[in-house]
Amino acid sequence: MCHLLQDKTDKINLLGLDRSAMQTFLAELGEKPFRTNQLIQWIHQARISDFSQMTNLSHALREKLTAIACIRLPDIAWEKIATDGTHKWLLRLPDGNSIEMVFIPEARRGTLCISSQVGCALDCRFCSTGKQGFSRNLTMAEIIGQLQLASQRLSEYQPKENAISPQASTARPPETRKAITNVVFMGMGEPLLNFDNVVPAMSLMMDDLAYGLSKYRVTLSTSGLIPAMLRLKAESPAALAVSLHAPNDDLRNVLVPLNKKYPLDALMSVCSDYFSGHAKRVVTFEYVMLKGINDSPKHAKELLTLLRTVPCKVNLIPFNPFPLTEYVCSPMEDIKIFQQIVQTGGIHTTIRKTRGDDIDAACGQLVGNFKDRTKRNARWLENPAKI
Ligand code: SAH
Ligand code: SF4
Repeated sequence: MCHLLQDKTDKINLLGLDRSAMQTFLAELGEKPFRTNQLIQWIHQARISDFSQMTNLSHALREKLTAIACIRLPDIAWEKIATDGTHKWLLRLPDGNSIEMVFIPEARRGTLCISSQVGCALDCRFCSTGKQGFSRNLTMAEIIGQLQLASQRLSEYQPKENAISPQASTARPPETRKAITNVVFMGMGEPLLNFDNVVPAMSLMMDDLAYGLSKYRVTLSTSGLIPAMLRLKAESPAALAVSLHAPNDDLRNVLVPLNKKYPLDALMSVCSDYFSGHAKRVVTFEYVMLKGINDSPKHAKELLTLLRTVPCKVNLIPFNPFPLTEYVCSPMEDIKIFQQIVQTGGIHTTIRKTRGDDIDAACGQLVGNFKDRTKRNARWLENPAKI
């Protein structure tokens, strides 16, 4: 049956069912459609995993579910909290693989950065996930399980408030806000190469009876897989970030090898139309700042020319180094000059604040751990802070 994760006990993990799959599952059990909303609320809003506590379901249904289904989250191998309040978790999956997940609290929002794959096949030159190669796609249960697990853990830091809050409250001081208001697919993996699990998971994230996050606050980040972007545009209202990193094909072919297949001309044409008909929505372009590679005023001007017809904003990401990388982060004064040029050209341009530095929780530092790991991975598991 569709994308169900079978538990070790061969039970169906209901975290892997979106609304329509849940409806089909319940219909096959002879249940009426209204049970779908009830079950979705119990599982995703109330975070109840014991069917016997789902008091508005009939006794017969509760017993049937206990016999054939389960709600199984990934296990937490460890959790670290940085001095700036950033949380990082290593999650262990049933097959022995591990993935990473990060929560970044800010004054007006709390962003959960989640993974879509174990590793990544696309091998961008500046990315440590890419350097590890690809192991497998995450199931939908493993994707939605990250959000459920993080909201559960964070609620333990703020017992009086649900950890999922679509409306960011400004009443609390920043250091005590632990609510997830935003989800970004900026952890490990290329989400559009796992479309059939990522998109249903996003739909539950935006479902009012599940996590109720706004479509402006669930962001898929892609390195630019054009056919899948077109499908995404048709099937999901989520926000879109595109990892650009270079203003011309020669440089982007080196940094993001996928560019050889889907070059900038074609990518810009898809991005120009992506939110057509939605006046207020724009694509975010991510641009990692690599010293002496893509960070000169000439590159900034070239970027302006490239983006002149695309409704967009630009987010400059200070490069996060990792062992054996050939790259160095641009000095902040160069990043600011770059920002100034693009901003003055009429494109809103921000510089991403690096968070969770002391626990290696920044973008591109998420490396997870593979089952069939190399010696380096084994050493890293023993002492994640050292490698
Ligand atoms: N595969 C998707 C999403 C995961 S990567 C993508 O490429 O968009 C999330 C973001 O982190 C991307 O913009 C990626 O380019 C960036 N990133 C990867 N390695 C990085 C590093 N070492 N320093 C800073 N950003 C990095
Ligand atoms: Fe994959 Fe994104 Fe890393 Fe490129 S930047 S290797 S697409 S995870």
